[in-house]
Amino acid sequence: MSQAEIGLIGLGTMGAMLALNIAEKGFPIAVWNRTTATTRAFHAGAGDQAPRITPTETLEALVAAIRPPRAIILMVPAGPVVDEEIARLTPLLAPGDMIIDAGNANFHDTDRRAAEAAKGGPRFLGIGVSGGEEGARHGPSIMGGGERADWDRVAHILEAISAKHEGTPCATWMGPGGAGHFVKAVHNGIEYADMQMIAEVYGVMRDGLGMDAAAISAVFERWNTGALQSYLIEISAAVTAARDPIGGGPIIDMILDKAGQKGTGRWTAIEAQHLAAPITVIEAAVAARNVSARLDERRAGQALFGAAPVAGAALGVEVLEQALIAGKILCYAQGFAMIGAAAGAFGWPLPLPDIARVWREGCIIRSAMLNDMATALTDSPGRNLMLAPAFADKLKATHGALRQVVAAAALNGLATPALSAGLAYFDMMRTARGTANMIQGQRDFFGAHGFDRLDGADSHHGPWGSHA
Ligand code: NDP
Repeated sequence: MSQAEIGLIGLGTMGAMLALNIAEKGFPIAVWNRTTATTRAFHAGAGDQAPRITPTETLEALVAAIRPPRAIILMVPAGPVVDEEIARLTPLLAPGDMIIDAGNANFHDTDRRAAEAAKGGPRFLGIGVSGGEEGARHGPSIMGGGERADWDRVAHILEAISAKHEGTPCATWMGPGGAGHFVKAVHNGIEYADMQMIAEVYGVMRDGLGMDAAAISAVFERWNTGALQSYLIEISAAVTAARDPIGGGPIIDMILDKAGQKGTGRWTAIEAQHLAAPITVIEAAVAARNVSARLDERRAGQALFGAAPVAGAALGVEVLEQALIAGKILCYAQGFAMIGAAAGAFGWPLPLPDIARVWREGCIIRSAMLNDMATALTDSPGRNLMLAPAFADKLKATHGALRQVVAAAALNGLATPALSAGLAYFDMMRTARGTANMIQGQRDFFGAHGFDRLDGADSHHGPWGSHA
């Protein structure tokens, strides 16, 4: 067989599917996996794609099987394993060869690896890949980071394997160094928030309106034909419809309410603090997962304080739909604003409209609304999405519903932390005269930090005198 056009290390869930996708798009690929039996089983099960796949059993054989200048994708667990694989590969590679880390790296690690590459190591790209197993097999969303020339060298392959929105590939270069992995992290943060808000309206339907899983599933199914059309609403309909193979009832009623996480949402929240970017909806979603993990304490809390005084929450599901639309807009407005802040802080391009475009298909947060967001971010460059005319109109039409839902939930003891955070952000962002004058007064009182005056007068301290 002629030499492969690209290589891949790590035939786990994602790597195996990416390799099949690459082969299917007509690119001969060489693969290697730490456990050789996996490589053999993978090739034996590759079906029609097997002829374009070269299985190898040593790293040397992998490198020899790829046409120079080589490009090798790493699809292994993020963190030290990536550094170990880079260290093992580097002595085997020739100048101009490239390593592409396609795992969920922390973008600071990617920045460090890119800086090491710039000192003379192999070329290095860090790409965020979203869409899970199914996306990796049939078309993920790809967020690229590294030197533009390196991206251009492999873009034809990455674009070919990516998801398409009306023929446009969902694969874009976001900027140098860790830019691609940074955008992937924010994607995951938004994913946490989208999921949390859906879980909150599910909770209002279940506990506030007394609806059963089948009725809730029907609502999600209906919403998926409207403004909320999205992969996450679609799977929420499926999750609430599925039956428990053991007991026969709805499986959702048997699933323990403790949410897991791999940490990408937390990275986003931490980074937002460094950037002074308010992403309160995402932060609330990360915190909610942490609270969910404290099951014993929650049980003790219920025993001590009693369960929430749930009565009939006087809400129609149409109001919940409108509230979710408002929450979603506010969450994405925060996420895009955070990316905008990073572009300024790190000097990266991070093209916001293109980011909305690559998220339209292939990734977990894909939704109909992202197409309108791409348009709004193009038409109103540099503007917070909530102030862009199309989304300002949507918010004018829906923020009342968000307020109704948050208020009803509060009165009925139903926790809606992400929706509440969205509402509080909206109220702060629509208040020209906020309350930070009090903060400034306090800061000047105890620390002589000074303040600016509304009338612009050149007097920056209060008359605190002996009280200070
Ligand atoms: P898996 O656990 O399914 O596979 C991990 C792969 O890495 C296996 O091929 C494994 O080889 C290999 N590996 C593990 N440890 C080592 C090591 N020390 N040295 C060499 N190879 C090693 O992981 P996924 O495919 O799910 O994830 C891979 C990456 O993709 C991660 O960064 C993940 O965060 C990211 N990702 C995952 C998504 C998902 O939905 N699963 C979505 C998007 C990104 P072996 O067979 O020998 O164990």
